[in-house]
Amino acid sequence: MEQVSAPTIAPPAVTAVPVVRDVRLLPKAHLHLHFTGSMRPATLLELADKHGVHLPEALGAQALSSGEPPKLRATDERGWFRFQRLYDMARSVLRDEEDIRRLVLETAQDERSEGSAGWRYRSTRPPTPPGWAA
Ligand SMILES: [Zn+2]
Repeated sequence: MEQVSAPTIAPPAVTAVPVVRDVRLLPKAHLHLHFTGSMRPATLLELADKHGVHLPEALGAQALSSGEPPKLRATDERGWFRFQRLYDMARSVLRDEEDIRRLVLETAQDERSEGSAGWRYRSTRPPTPPGWAA
């Protein structure tokens, strides 16, 4: 009986040069992103003006003129409570459908420009800004 041998397959060539990729060129991944927290500082100021919301100094025009979020100190004993109060103030400027559409659009634009390849929206509850029927 004739023996049949398996064909010989050469292993892939091993390159000695390690592949180093620039992490900034990889797709960006947010596993958890809050819309309010993604709001542009300029949008916060414009929507506060639109709805007549008086923002605290930490969220005012002077504080946000750099385009950066407010600086909070980790050593502040009231750090979380202060953060939550400012966050609630920022959320309070989102009052109508136009505001929500703008926030979602700008978040998508910002994410795209920062390298996000796509996103999925998921919420544990529908967004219900003040004045909206739930
Ligand atoms: Zn969260």
